[in-house]
Amino acid sequence: MITIKTEEEIKLMRKAGEIVGLTHHYLENYIKPGITTKKLNDLARKFILDHDATPSFEGLYGFPGTICISINEEVVHGIPSKRKLKEGDIITLDIGACYKGYHGDSAWTYKVGKVSSDKEYLLEHTEKALYEGLKAVKPGNRIGDIGYNVSAYASKHNLGVVRELVGHGVGSSVHEDPDVPNYGRQHTGPLLEEGMVIAIEPMLNLGTSEIYMLNDDWTIVTADNKPSAHFEHTVLVTKHGYEILTKR
Ligand code: MG
Ligand code: MG
Repeated sequence: MITIKTEEEIKLMRKAGEIVGLTHHYLENYIKPGITTKKLNDLARKFILDHDATPSFEGLYGFPGTICISINEEVVHGIPSKRKLKEGDIITLDIGACYKGYHGDSAWTYKVGKVSSDKEYLLEHTEKALYEGLKAVKPGNRIGDIGYNVSAYASKHNLGVVRELVGHGVGSSVHEDPDVPNYGRQHTGPLLEEGMVIAIEPMLNLGTSEIYMLNDDWTIVTADNKPSAHFEHTVLVTKHGYEILTKR
């Protein structure tokens, strides 16, 4: 069921989104060669709790971390560990926070020091693909318009679109209806209405769109081991367009 949020719910979701944005901003300073992903995870945990919120992903479906941290060919759901970041890595932090019962969800891919030009290219165009998707968000458009924009932009730039993982509605659960795929046909799918909140999250690969899951039963990686990037915002559908709730 797709829910339309009340004014009161929207206020709480703005706050949840703000905390997610602040957590990203805070962690960005720590993304340097030598730091472990566990350390980043623990900093995120303390920061979210210190802001009167709880981490949305901790224990969600049994996830053994607070935030998802995915490096290079890892697409999503990387588990924080003793692994140290290296110069030239790219790292995706996928952060969720719950404030008074309402969630915000945002992923961003960062550079560790200086990265190769193909990684630069991947990051630049995955972020732009997110904004292409956002352009389709307004009442009267449909979910398929968002995915169409994302995949059209991705194929124009020769990037693989992950299809098995999708964006989603956000509210009192971090994952609600509707699914928001990064592919689609224009004028198809659920209608966008004022008051809906959705997470749009292109996951684009430098090579193949094919992925598989590692033996840890969580980490999703690209089938050809080429790098993957992930940019996500939670947005509110407004009267004439959208408002980003997870501003950075
Ligand atoms: Mg996310
Ligand atoms: Mg999400």
